Amino acid sequence: MKNNPLYVTRPFCAPPEEFAEEYRRMSEAARFTNHGNCHERLERELAGYLGVPYFSLVNNATTGLMIACKALNLRGEVIVSPFTFPATVNALTWCGLTPVFADIAEKSFNLDPRRAEEAVTTRTSAILPVHLYGNVCDTRAFDEIARRRKLRLLYDAAHAFGVTRGDLPVGRYGDISVFSFHATKLFHTGEGGGLSCRTADLKNQVDLLRNFGIRDTECVLTAGINGKMSELHAALGLVNLRHIAAERNERARVRRLYEEQLESLRGLTVIKPPSGGREALQYFVVQIDAAYFGMSRDSLCALLETNGVYARKYFYPLCSEQAPYRNLASAAPENLSAAITAAKQLLCLPFYGAMTSTDVDRVCGIISKSCRSRPEMPAHA
Ligand SMILES: *Cc1c(COP(=O)(O)O)cnc(C)c1O
Repeated sequence: MKNNPLYVTRPFCAPPEEFAEEYRRMSEAARFTNHGNCHERLERELAGYLGVPYFSLVNNATTGLMIACKALNLRGEVIVSPFTFPATVNALTWCGLTPVFADIAEKSFNLDPRRAEEAVTTRTSAILPVHLYGNVCDTRAFDEIARRRKLRLLYDAAHAFGVTRGDLPVGRYGDISVFSFHATKLFHTGEGGGLSCRTADLKNQVDLLRNFGIRDTECVLTAGINGKMSELHAALGLVNLRHIAAERNERARVRRLYEEQLESLRGLTVIKPPSGGREALQYFVVQIDAAYFGMSRDSLCALLETNGVYARKYFYPLCSEQAPYRNLASAAPENLSAAITAAKQLLCLPFYGAMTSTDVDRVCGIISKSCRSRPEMPAHA
């Protein structure tokens, strides 16, 4: 089994002929970047799919977050969850901003609005919540706080492609939401990302910033960056987007197979998306309570690995425990107790559309055997 490894994800792969067809057209036009035909088509199609009025493609979500910070003219401190991928917090630092960590809510694992508001000072310019695992934050509370305290609201929606709450698309919340189209995400362009903006003015600012800040051949308006998505990446996106419904269906199938086998295990909780709306299907996450399960998350993860199953501890260690951030006052462990517990207990299991029921059985077999409360085998077995 060790020579048939199962990784936490396997990027979706569309039929090569479809990409070849896009490449043929691109090479006929001899245009490989600078907002060519593929780029413009993908930007329009994604705005439609995501249900957002103002949408801009970028070369990855990390640059996207940096562009968003500049477009919103952020200054001083930005309040952020420590329980996220390092890019969320690094983007702030690259923009000369000071991240201020606030704790997460225990059930949702998203930034707790009450704790975020407690962290607001006269230097705060924005809140940056993450829709962790694609589960939508308490947007109503964040809206209210942002309005009352005159703060900008920037969402990291890297995990939340196509997510809706009821009928409302996730990209409609806040001033800007940043999506990632990295190869490990549900929808991908190899490397890539996109920003959905609340207003046309914000989109214009984003579009200026992603193109060096250049207005025309002789005029630079602002110190921008190169955040453009290339035609090759956009072509991959166009092709992958044609298969998104099928990939979502396959992942929903895998999720059901996992749930059937894992839900009855004591000390293991399947982390479920909130009901009502289209779910993320980005990760399949379980929470291990060592006292009941009979084994810690870390031991289970190591055991899976011994058997060639590479689950991932998203997100351990916390960003607040990493070298660039651990000396910040807000990184103090007593400030972040819910995040510390979550980082010890959560585990992302292999999850992607191409997983077979045999693959799922193999992962679940190892987990069930590790659980202390497993049903006893009949004596004659
Ligand atoms: C993947 C990810 C990012 C970074 O996305 P890139 O497109 O790889 O730059 C940012 N935030 C979160 C939460 C992510 O998971």
